[in-house]
Amino acid sequence: MYVQLPFDELKVDPNQKKRIAYFYDADIGNYAYGAGHPMKPHRIRMAHSLIMNYGLYKKMEIYRAKPATKQEMCQFHTDEYIDFISRVSPDNLDLFAKEQIKFNVGDDCPVFDGLFEYCGISGGGSMEGAARLNRGKCDIAINYAGGLHHAKKSEASGFCYLNDIVLGIIELLRYHPRVLYIDIDVHHGDGVEEAFYTTDRVMTCSFHKYGEFFPGTGELRDIGVGKGKYHSVNVPLRDGIDDATYKSIFEPLISKIVEWYQPSAIVLQCGGDSLSGDRLGCFNLSMSGHANCINFVKSFNIPLMVVGGGGYTMRNVARTWAFESGLLNNVILPTELPYNEYYEYYAPDYKLDVRPSNMYNSNSPEFLDKILTNIISNLENTKHAPSVQMNVVPNDAEDLGDIEEDTAEAMDTKGGSEIARDSAIQPDNEFYEEDFKDKEDRMIIDSKDVTEHKSAPATTATTPKEEESSTTKLTDEELKEIREMNESI
Ligand SMILES: [Zn+2]
Repeated sequence: MYVQLPFDELKVDPNQKKRIAYFYDADIGNYAYGAGHPMKPHRIRMAHSLIMNYGLYKKMEIYRAKPATKQEMCQFHTDEYIDFISRVSPDNLDLFAKEQIKFNVGDDCPVFDGLFEYCGISGGGSMEGAARLNRGKCDIAINYAGGLHHAKKSEASGFCYLNDIVLGIIELLRYHPRVLYIDIDVHHGDGVEEAFYTTDRVMTCSFHKYGEFFPGTGELRDIGVGKGKYHSVNVPLRDGIDDATYKSIFEPLISKIVEWYQPSAIVLQCGGDSLSGDRLGCFNLSMSGHANCINFVKSFNIPLMVVGGGGYTMRNVARTWAFESGLLNNVILPTELPYNEYYEYYAPDYKLDVRPSNMYNSNSPEFLDKILTNIISNLENTKHAPSVQMNVVPNDAEDLGDIEEDTAEAMDTKGGSEIARDSAIQPDNEFYEEDFKDKEDRMIIDSKDVTEHKSAPATTATTPKEEESSTTKLTDEELKEIREMNESI
């Protein structure tokens, strides 16, 4: 069943136009896990700087999302866990000795200054990205501050505290009967898998190193339970997988899943630790090999959310996410790096490339054949997309208000409406849509459809992420400001 495909040069169709919403908050690069910690949010700022200096801001709409609120975070996480995250700081850490153990905060997941705000930015981008996709306001949403796939309902794990992906998928499930989650981080996407392990509304598919490697889960035989049986797909790989080999297992598998499961939205986690030369990873993908996955998933023309994830050799993560942002915009970015604030990081070649090494590929064709055969035979059971009970749901909460009255004078409990506050900080010609509600009845699945499980989301009980009216589209001036701010750091 396994056939090794040739790895061809990546191609885009420059005539194809995708509407892309790119989420970035300039604060993200200021958070630090602590000296010597491999996870460095600064890499997101480096990627952003490349994206801007390559001129991609001319093609995408750039947003700073409103940070996720505690209430929104608790759509997946427990109240007591989020409460802890919001209160703990390096200064009061000794008051939380018991909680640190309970919520797995410590070495891998240290408490650092601004932890809660950091989580808010990561979660806000994924939730608002999902909300925009739901409204049909974009074809692709990008949030490189997201992708934190290890976070659990009540526990931090693997450098992740808030599972922005689960929150984004819960938002998508308000409108989409079936969501496909694809994870190309070198680590197993355990937090997302666990959250949706018992439901057929989300299919998760994780490609990862398996065997004496964090987090230790993601065996071939872990396929989901109850209604979720056959809706968790695990592709356990060995060290040194190269571009052609990865493509040869990724493409046929994703094709089959899309054909049989028929997702109406896809979330793609683009962890950069599967790249060759990663500080923690052990795969051998070049930038093109990694980016081929993004290009392939995009080719299905299904509403797509792209999130970040791991990636511990900063210069390579930044290069790859910039290149992939180009692909999503149907542009192959030129190899010569534009001058940018972090130019010296890209020495000595200053090129937009991550090259593979000569490491041994431990994934034999026989091994991959066994994996592919096993997974495809399980997937046969999903051939007929699950029939879901569709109900008309009432309009979202914010529809209850009268937009006409939502002026700067209108006072609500927050001391002024979102729209009023936003219009106060936006010039008149700036982006926000007054007609931001579709009035059509929407279909959503009965909550009975979601099997009881400690982590299964109650899909109908969620509060919608506030609409794009709460999102600031950056003006040219603000973009310039971001660039200047970056320069001064
Ligand atoms: Zn990872």
